[in-house]
Amino acid sequence: VGDNGAVTSTLRDLPGWKHVYSGKVRDLYRPDGEGDRPPGPAGTMLVVASDRVSAFDHVLSPGIPGKGELLTTLSLWWFDTLSDVPNHLQPDHTIDENVPSGARDLIPGDVSGRAMLVRTLEMFPIECVVRGYITGTGWLEYQESGTVCGIALPAGLSNGDRLPEPLFTPAFKAELGEHDENITFERVVEIVGVEDAEALRALSLSVYDRAARLAESRGLILADTKFEFGRDPVTGVIALADEVLTSDSSRYWDAEAWNAGSTPTERMASFDKQIVRDWLAANWDKTGTPPELPAEIVERTAARYRELLERVTSV
Ligand code: ATP
Ligand code: MG
Repeated sequence: VGDNGAVTSTLRDLPGWKHVYSGKVRDLYRPDGEGDRPPGPAGTMLVVASDRVSAFDHVLSPGIPGKGELLTTLSLWWFDTLSDVPNHLQPDHTIDENVPSGARDLIPGDVSGRAMLVRTLEMFPIECVVRGYITGTGWLEYQESGTVCGIALPAGLSNGDRLPEPLFTPAFKAELGEHDENITFERVVEIVGVEDAEALRALSLSVYDRAARLAESRGLILADTKFEFGRDPVTGVIALADEVLTSDSSRYWDAEAWNAGSTPTERMASFDKQIVRDWLAANWDKTGTPPELPAEIVERTAARYRELLERVTSV
């Protein structure tokens, strides 16, 4: 797939499934009539999270061991916790090991733990980002224009500051290899229509709000996160798709460090791929192929991902 050679090397033949697409992190499969396993129901996809890690739109090498399984476990936990929000999981995809499940029969053993059985939705080409704190591309835009996605913000904010209220700051979902682009809400309206644009914004803000409160109760700050939504072609319902509230799609910080810290680095003690972004920013001029990640960065990232899962999901 494009210039990210890592993709093909990790693909496996999955009995009963045919590979249809690979993004930077996930490999998608559709039911295949051939093979010795029964095909999944029509409209079903198998979404397999790999250990690949991407930053600045490049897939890096090596991957982060255990990452795919951690992302999947965390997504499933959040889908379950937010169970009143429609999502793309097949109804029989339960995380309860004691419930007899069609999903378990359909998910090949090779990828169990890192795969989700989902309904294929008509995806909106919008990354539904919500920011409760300002950093990343939001911080870059703010420094240039005092705005984020066209929304004017108070003067004098520092990198990592809490925003007066959480903001819906959408991005247009670029083709593989291209950079996602921050857009205004008016642009979202032009792309998907006013009704869906308002629905996406309301859903995003409400899920962020619930998740941020829950994170807070675990001593974590959910600084920002990105949702992807799609429409169920059968019911017409807008559902939460892709991964949700993971360490790839979100910035999680340690609340104690944020409160005590006096520099941006001290305040933003990340449980996410910021460790990788920071190392890469310091060691690569963003031209040509990114350098290999050092073992120490890989291990530290893996450890932080594991710690996040424990902190979020333990009661
Ligand atoms: P890109 O979409 O550009 O490949 P990416 O590199 O982030 O972006 P991944 O996250 O690795 O891609 O792959 C997951 C892909 O599957 C995304 O394109 C996402 O929009 C899509 N997807 C996730 N859930 C569903 C669903 N239920 N129905 C259809 N597509 C889905
Ligand atoms: Mg993605």
